[in-house]
Amino acid sequence: MDVLRRAEPARQPERNRIEWYDRYPEEQLIRRMDLERELPGAAGRGEFDLVYQPVLDLDDQCPVGTEALVRWRSPVLGTVLPAELVPVAEDLGLIDELGRWVLHRACRRLAEWSRGGRRLWMSINVSVAELTGPEFVGRVAAALTLHGIAPDRLLIEIAEPSGEGDLRAVVNQLGRLRALGVRTALDDFGLGPMSLAQLRRMPVDILKINRRLVAEPDGRQGRGQPVIAVVVSLGRRLGVQIVAGGLESADQVEQAWLAGCRFGQGYVLARPATAERVEAYLEEFPTPYR
Ligand code: C2E
Ligand code: MG
Repeated sequence: MDVLRRAEPARQPERNRIEWYDRYPEEQLIRRMDLERELPGAAGRGEFDLVYQPVLDLDDQCPVGTEALVRWRSPVLGTVLPAELVPVAEDLGLIDELGRWVLHRACRRLAEWSRGGRRLWMSINVSVAELTGPEFVGRVAAALTLHGIAPDRLLIEIAEPSGEGDLRAVVNQLGRLRALGVRTALDDFGLGPMSLAQLRRMPVDILKINRRLVAEPDGRQGRGQPVIAVVVSLGRRLGVQIVAGGLESADQVEQAWLAGCRFGQGYVLARPATAERVEAYLEEFPTPYR
C-alpha cells in the first residue's frame, strides 16, 4: 500500500498507456543532497547537541550511567537523528569532527555531573570507522586528562563489526582503550551475525542487549529459557555485565531483572532528554549512588 501511495502517474507518452514511477528514491536522493549541503561547518556553527539517556541498576532502579546520543539541530532541516547523520558524516569525511565534538561535550558533562561524589558513567557511541581511526585512542586519553575523568567512568559503545578485517581492527582498538582503563561495550548485541568465537575475541566489559531480543515473543512460552536469560548466562561465562536495552514496559523490566540483567535502559525507565532535564532527574537520587 505504501508503494502505491507513493507512486504517481509519470507521463502518458502514448494514448491509453500510463507509466508509474516511484518518487521514494527521488525523495531520498533530495534529502541526502540537503544533508550533504548543510552538514559541513555544523560543528563550528554550534548545531550539534547531545541528549542523554540514563542507565539504571535494575535492583534498586537508581541511575548508574547515562548514554550520550547525538542530535543535529539544523536550522534548515530541523532535528536530524544519528541514523541519518552518521552515515553522511562518514561519507563526507566529517565523522572525526563529529566524534571529537561528542567526546568532549560528553566528557565535560560527565565531569560536571560527577562533582560532589556522584558516581556515574558516561557512554558514547562510536562507529567502526571512528574507533579504528589512527588518532582515536590518543584523543580519548587526552579528553580524560583534560576533563579530569577517571578512565573507568567512560564507556565506549561499538556496534558489531561486520567483516573479519573490521573485527581484527576493532579488537585491537578496544584492547588499547581497555589498557587505558576505559570500559567498552558491544552495542545492540543479538541482532548481528556475530559468532560465539568472534564474541569471545571482543575485549568488552558490557553487552547491551538489543530491544528486539528483550521483547522476544517466544521468551515466556515454555520453549526452554527466554532468549534474554540465555544471553545473560553467556555473559556470565564471558565475564561481562549485561545492559538490557529498549525496555518499554514494566513487564519487560521485570523479565530482564528475572533473567539476571544487572542494568536496564529504555523509555519506560527514562527517555533520552536534554542535559538540564537529566540533571534534574539525577538530583532526585541520593549521592553517591555507588
Ligand atoms: P543505540 O546506541 O542502540 O541507542 C539506542 C537508540 O534507541 C537511541 O536512538 C535511543 O533514543 C533509542 N531508544 C532508547 N530507549 C528506547 C526504547 O525504549 N524504545 C525504542 N524504540 N528506542 C529506544 P537514537 O538516539 O536515534 O540513536 C540511534 C543510534 O545512533 C544509536 O543506537 C547509536 O548506535 C547511534 N548514535 C547515537 N549517537 C551517536 C554518536 O554520537 N556517534 C555515533 N557514531 N553514533 C551514534
Ligand atoms: Mg549505544
